[in-house]
Amino acid sequence: MTIETLKTDVLILGSGGAGLFAALHAHRANPHLAITVATKGLLGKSGCTRMVQGGYNVSLHKGDSVERHFMDTIDGGKWLPNQELAWTLVEKAVERVRELENEIGCFFDRNSDGSLHGKAFAGQTFDRTVHKGDLTGIEIINRLMEQVWARPSIRRLEEHRAIALVPEKGATGDASRKPVAGVLFIDIRTGKFRLITAKAILLATGGGPTMYKYHTPSGDKAMDGLAMALRYGLPLRDMEMVQFHPTGVLAGPDTRMTGTIIEEGLRGAGGYLLDGSKQRFMFNYDPRGERATRDLVSQSMYREMQAGRTTPNGGLYISMGHLGPEKVAKQFKGMVERCADCGFDLAGGLVEVVPTAHYLMGGVVCKVDTSTEVPGLYVAGEDAGGVHGANRLGGNGVANSTVYGGIAGETMAADIKRGLGHREPDMDVVAAEIARAEAPFRVRPTPVAGGQPKAEGVPVAGGQPKAEGVPVVGGQRKAHWTDTNRIRDTLLDLMWDDVGIIRERSGMERALAQLDELDAQLCAAGVPDTNRAFNLSWHDWLNLRSQIVMSKVVAHAALKRENSRGAHFREDFKEPGAMDTSRFTVVREVDDKLQVGDEPVIFTHVKPGETLIKDTPEAAE
Ligand SMILES: Cc1cc2nc3c(=O)[nH]c(=O)nc-3n(C[C@H](O)[C@H](O)[C@H](O)COP(=O)(O)OP(=O)(O)OC[C@H]3O[C@@H](n4cnc5c(N)ncnc54)[C@H](O)[C@@H]3O)c2cc1C
Repeated sequence: MTIETLKTDVLILGSGGAGLFAALHAHRANPHLAITVATKGLLGKSGCTRMVQGGYNVSLHKGDSVERHFMDTIDGGKWLPNQELAWTLVEKAVERVRELENEIGCFFDRNSDGSLHGKAFAGQTFDRTVHKGDLTGIEIINRLMEQVWARPSIRRLEEHRAIALVPEKGATGDASRKPVAGVLFIDIRTGKFRLITAKAILLATGGGPTMYKYHTPSGDKAMDGLAMALRYGLPLRDMEMVQFHPTGVLAGPDTRMTGTIIEEGLRGAGGYLLDGSKQRFMFNYDPRGERATRDLVSQSMYREMQAGRTTPNGGLYISMGHLGPEKVAKQFKGMVERCADCGFDLAGGLVEVVPTAHYLMGGVVCKVDTSTEVPGLYVAGEDAGGVHGANRLGGNGVANSTVYGGIAGETMAADIKRGLGHREPDMDVVAAEIARAEAPFRVRPTPVAGGQPKAEGVPVAGGQPKAEGVPVVGGQRKAHWTDTNRIRDTLLDLMWDDVGIIRERSGMERALAQLDELDAQLCAAGVPDTNRAFNLSWHDWLNLRSQIVMSKVVAHAALKRENSRGAHFREDFKEPGAMDTSRFTVVREVDDKLQVGDEPVIFTHVKPGETLIKDTPEAAE
């Protein structure tokens, strides 16, 4: 088999905060390394780092401390975070924000005395979220992009979709015994496959729970990286922990703006959440009112919606006008403009909102140096699991991707210096993965009057493709786009209804059965247009495959956790369980089947009931 193959020292998948920081730090460690950033979207224009609104958590301010930031992270994560990962996050965030300002060229908002302005974010005991107005991500990603452009030796491959991790030739067995040799891509522009081999490979594709009816992440994200890692045999932890952000804009059924968020700082600044009859309700659920953590606010909102106390469109309201429209317009300029684009007056009126799937706390199990159990494979940013446990604090997401992206760059360079070399890729795996990706082109549905179409040759994990349930209209199978659109709509609804904010066993079991059926239907749907170049139907199909498999992982992990912690709430197991015997879930794929287990949390820095916060507040700056 001939396939275009490239060779590089460091291969980075994704160009968000994690991917770009990794490239810059690997380059700084050794400017002679061949570094390649390959990304599904455009560099600097894709992923969620660019979408960061609120800001970046860092304990730089007088009266705050790394210990306080750490305790907020552990408390918010309901004692499930890996404490080594969480500690490194809060400690290195200080260094990383200074680097962002002094070396990368970002400007964050300042107080009149010149110190960085810290805004209030929910669930934190200190106003430590530094920001650039409410468009912080654009500032960060634009400056990072410029720094990467300024280093021509960092090769950039845009619109390159990674589809599979390729092991070393001859390697068999579990993931730890299969060193990774390269990554198989589709060049979206030509539709051609391309293999890139590398000494060190970083997974930084940014997770992103895009399988829910209301969701915030960028449209290029479909959890491809996690799906690839799962298929390779890597363990994923905390996958039941899907964060719903309370304030997604409810702009109507037919606009992609629905689900996009308006930031947490609105509630931090004193915004009210109102039910359909314009009454505040948060104090009925939590003494902190609107400033409770995202999980509690989203659950409370969902209960209001279930009880029918909604706006005419089925959502709730956020109201800021009591703070003074002029003040709101000045403080939240970007938010006010974005709401106006959707037809809402944020400064003086009411905006319809709904909780929206925002962030995956779960991800690939990794060490503090970002290495995984697969030799040669590293993970950083939202693809990595363990930093946030059961709930991510607003402002800890971009801190996570930039801190650990930088660490990944340094680790990869150091490991290469220590002798990590190229490995010969297993071309049988490459052939099998190409066949898997091309499967939808081979579907030749046979129209059978009054019957079901047959779908030949589409591999389905764990068995043969079923074509049941594929709609047949007058003996003809409906057009592909109808099938994939219907499958996507069904997926988004079933995950929202049955594996969403409030869960219970019967709903999740129903969802798992439906997910198997959707997988089979997708395999039978195929792709009609065989032209490969910029074939968005094909990429939709591939997105859906990643989304369906990751939905199954979330549902299995959620069934396994028989308690309610942070973002995971079970109506049939409402108690959080004992903190000092906390366990985290782990999902692996073994022989095409998902295996779900759990492991104990090791409290390396602080045990439940203890605190690291010293009585005397300390000044870090
Ligand atoms: C609307 C919004 C607002 C947010 N606000 C905040 C905030 O105020 N504070 C905060 O801390 N966090 C915030 N977050 C979360 C934060 O954006 C993320 O945690 C963080 O940016 C993730 O960084 P990352 O580098 O892991 O991934 P991303 O920045 O999402 O980058 C992922 C990259 O991977 C690429 N990719 C995806 N699939 C593939 C593939 N198959 N092959 C190759 N490349 C691929 C994408 O194109 C993209 O370039 C917000 C998120 C959203 C959606």
